[in-house]
Amino acid sequence: MTEVRTRFAPSPTGFQHLGGFRTAFFAYLLAKKHGGQFLLRIEDTDRERLVPGAIRFIVEELGWLGIQIDEGPSREELKAIGELWDGAPEIGGPCGPYIQSLKLKRYKEVAEELISKGFAYRCDCTPEMLERERAEQMARRELPGYSGYCRTREVSADRPHVVRFKIPQKRALTLNDAVRGRVHWDSIPLRDTVLLKSDGFPTYHLAAMVDDHDMRISHVLRGVEWLSSAPVHLLLYEALGWQPPIFAHFPLVNGTDGKKLSKRSGALNARQVREMGYLPETVLNFVSLIGWAPGEGSNQEIFTRDELIKSFSLEGINQASGVFDATKMAWMNGLYIRNLSVGEFIERCKPYMELAGVQVPAEQFAALAPHVQERVKALTEVAPMLDFLADKPLTREMDSMFQKGIDAPKAREVLNRSLVVLEALPDFTVEAIDQALRGVATELGLKAGPAFGVLRVAVTGKTITPPLFESFAVLGKDTVLSRIRETLDLIPA
Ligand code: GLU
Repeated sequence: MTEVRTRFAPSPTGFQHLGGFRTAFFAYLLAKKHGGQFLLRIEDTDRERLVPGAIRFIVEELGWLGIQIDEGPSREELKAIGELWDGAPEIGGPCGPYIQSLKLKRYKEVAEELISKGFAYRCDCTPEMLERERAEQMARRELPGYSGYCRTREVSADRPHVVRFKIPQKRALTLNDAVRGRVHWDSIPLRDTVLLKSDGFPTYHLAAMVDDHDMRISHVLRGVEWLSSAPVHLLLYEALGWQPPIFAHFPLVNGTDGKKLSKRSGALNARQVREMGYLPETVLNFVSLIGWAPGEGSNQEIFTRDELIKSFSLEGINQASGVFDATKMAWMNGLYIRNLSVGEFIERCKPYMELAGVQVPAEQFAALAPHVQERVKALTEVAPMLDFLADKPLTREMDSMFQKGIDAPKAREVLNRSLVVLEALPDFTVEAIDQALRGVATELGLKAGPAFGVLRVAVTGKTITPPLFESFAVLGKDTVLSRIRETLDLIPA
């Protein structure tokens, strides 16, 4: 096989949700499987829909996901379009520019070549004329589209105009799609489409084909929404005498409601899931499995990056739409968190603890980390579970103390007895605390659950914490006793 070069070619019109990033994952996995290159190309030709910061978002989130971009916009290119940010990586490469708005000359040159070879023509039809034509076609129940009025006219290059591709209607075409197999068209479903707009910007059809050629892309992986215009693309390659790449059109991603994944259906983007405490390896694993499976008979769900790269193939992409199931992703994140070494877990928690403003002494964090790691599905859950270790006054969810037969006098009894037995302990170890407090519950005729519930709120402030006795041992006798005393003052007489 010739060198495998794939690309992710987003339009910087917003902050892609994970369904959109899946294209990048597939392209990356395919390139890496074959020891090839993964490129990032910015398709910013739709000037009205540009969103400042969208390129930064894409580059940073791909970086977070560990997806190395082999070729892509250089800092100079980013600067040229006013989108350079502090800390932007220097990517670049031999086939630049990788930002389409910096390549207008090249697109114009190709459009001119097509005109001179008779495959394209200038058209100066006004929007009003096109509108009228469209209305007439609708009235005649014809497929709407440009009639080809300017095909035989000589439109001067000095007049405002667009460049249209001359599309032969009576032409059968076949595409051997790497995902969908043989796709055949008896005739071309599109009319003479615009290649170059009157503002000098190319449309997707021209720009993407020129770039895929210039950047020596071997496999074009894109969403199925582009399949209907694939005939135009094949004809363009033919007109230019270029070898087309292998096309792979893959299905959409739906939400669990069966509808196309969108912001409205709760789709999340990479930055949101990062902020929510997901690990990048979860996201890469989970999103890669939307609409792709490693092959017949395998139901493996957990893949390291290397395993994904090794197992990935275009044949494994499903023809049916994939489903994004956020609940399943949360489950998978819990699994990935539990698989981290304790040291790694602590490291990964740090930025989230910082963001939450929770400072926990390192030793105490280390002592409780293995217990916390077992209990969370996201790194953001750690700070609220451990903030009772911070050296600051505790706010207590007092109401949650009084349930399952516990009233104020009972709570006082539990706390008073616990004070006595804990104070008497020579060693404040997990086992000793355990034994002493179970003794208190039995003595008072209470079940362990409600009795320990009182102690949990008294000492940690909340109902969800790491295991109680471990937490007490880590806090130390003095703190535990003084927190119990403080609570006694708070319970209404
Ligand atoms: N800019 C196009 C999009 O965002 C890229 C399609 C392609 O990959 O060719 O949909």
